[in-house]
This record gives sequence, structure tokens and C-alpha cells, in this order.
Amino acid sequence: MILTNKVALITGASSGIGHATARLFAQQGARLVLAGRDAARLATLKTLIEREGGQALALPGDVRDEAHAKALVAAAVGEFGGLDIAFNNAGHLGPMLPAPQITLADWQQTLDVNLTAAFLGAKHQLPALVARGGGALIFTSTFVGHTVGFPGMAAYAASKAGVIGLTKALAAEYGEHGVRVNAILPGGTDTPMGREVANSPEAIAHIRSLHALGRIATPEEIAKSVLYLASDLGSFTTGAALMVDGGVSVKR
Ligand code: NAP
Repeated sequence: MILTNKVALITGASSGIGHATARLFAQQGARLVLAGRDAARLATLKTLIEREGGQALALPGDVRDEAHAKALVAAAVGEFGGLDIAFNNAGHLGPMLPAPQITLADWQQTLDVNLTAAFLGAKHQLPALVARGGGALIFTSTFVGHTVGFPGMAAYAASKAGVIGLTKALAAEYGEHGVRVNAILPGGTDTPMGREVANSPEAIAHIRSLHALGRIATPEEIAKSVLYLASDLGSFTTGAALMVDGGVSVKR
């Protein structure tokens, strides 16, 4: 149990990578604040964690809402006494269209969920992490746009590249306060969002072929790398854009 006595906040906990990470963190002893829009799925996860002996509270909301970002931190501090780990993981795929066909509204929504919400989360989490004497702030970026320029994913790629810039700036800004700030860059992962992209036998085969391992990840595999960044295992890792991509970056 490497997260005993730690309090962790996870956005996008209702599904996929966030859901798997919440379960792993709970199994490692963390008390959890679970966020997502789907209240029913969050409640089911909370029950599952409690049945396994863990502690969690669920706070549904939209990451684009600054009041929600603030409330999540207040819940961690109010219910569990502080915040040690924040995993800003909620994400939106956005339009899968050639750039000239992307509306400003769709572009904006993708940046709002993936980038601006990551900033809003960090804005309210950082003072709580500092008050605790340090902690771990983690964002979810992607291999898309970083190592492979997927056609038709301009808004998603741009928003997630922004997350890497945010990560590096905050790592430099908060290192001396003991806050480590990192981004995880998953490869293709079997989640509802992953299945939205890999939506035909041809697309599935193509996406698998991009990975040196010849397959995509399970959300549980990505969660293990988040655990590394969140825990003392990653105590000297900060400012990293950590590729957990099954070798996309070396498969050309
Ligand atoms: P997923 O299963 O579809 O989960 C997405 C999560 O984001 C859900 O929990 C969803 O919550 C939440 N979310 C979306 N919009 C939100 C909003 N406006 N406010 C609050 N929560 C919101 O997909 P996933 O693959 O696990 O995605 C997790 C992260 O990994 C994302 O940032 C994604 O970009 C990134 N990623 C995924 C892959 C992949 O291949 N799957 C690869 C690289 C990176 P609700 O449904 O409850 O709203």
C-alpha cells in the first residue's frame, strides 16, 4: 500500500483511465474525491471502492466550471483533511474533421475541457498541495499530436499539447514547494473514448499497428503509470511528459 494516508482527487473518474486509476489508488490506501459528470457511475464506483475497504466521496460536475474545481478541493480538505494528489484526467475528443470543417464552438469546447479546465483544476489544487507541504499534480495528455499527427484531430491535439506546456511551466513554478507536476501521454487505450476513434475494423487494425507492442493498452496499464507519478516511486520525476504509449514513438 503505497498511498496510505494520501488524499487524491481524480477527474474523469466515471470512466476509462480515471476509473481504473481510482480503483488502483484506493487499493493502495488513498482516500479519494471522485469527479465526473455522470453521478450514477460515480456513485457505483464509490460503492465498489467502499466494498473493497476504501474511502471515497463522489462530487459530480463539469470540469469547465471553476466553482466545481474549487468545490473538489474544498471537499478533499473538508472531508479528508487535505490534498496530496490531483489527477486532472477528464477529456473530450472533440470534432474528428478536417480543420476547415471545425466550428469555432467545437474548437472552443475541446480546448475548454482539455486545457482550460486543467488550468482551473491546478489553480485551485496548487495552494492545497502547498499547504500540505508538497504533493503530486498530474495531467492526462496524449501521444496524438505529440508523436503522431493524426489527420482530423486538430482541436484535440492542440489542446493536449497545451497541457504539456502547462505541465512544464507549473513544474518549474512549484518545484521549490515540493509539488511535482507531470503529464502522462497514454497510447491508444481501450476506453469509450478510445473506441470512438477505433470505430471500424480498419481503424482498430491501423491504431494497433502504430504501437511497437502491436496492441493498445488497458486502462489498468495506464493507471499503473499514474500511480508511479502520484507516489514516492516518482519522487524525483517532475516536468515530465511521460509516454506510456506501447512504443508509438519508436514505431515509424
Ligand atoms: P473515457 O472513458 O471516455 O473517459 C472520459 C472521462 O472524462 C469521463 O469520466 C468523463 O466523465 C470525463 N469528462 C469528459 N468531459 C467532461 C466534462 N466536461 N466535465 C467533467 N468530466 C468530463 O476516456 P478515457 O480514454 O479514459 O480518457 C481519459 C483521458 O485520457 C482523457 O483526457 C483522454 O483525452 C486521455 N487519453 C485517452 C486515450 C485513449 O486512447 N483512450 C489516449 C490518450 C489519452 P462523464 O462521462 O461522467 O462526463
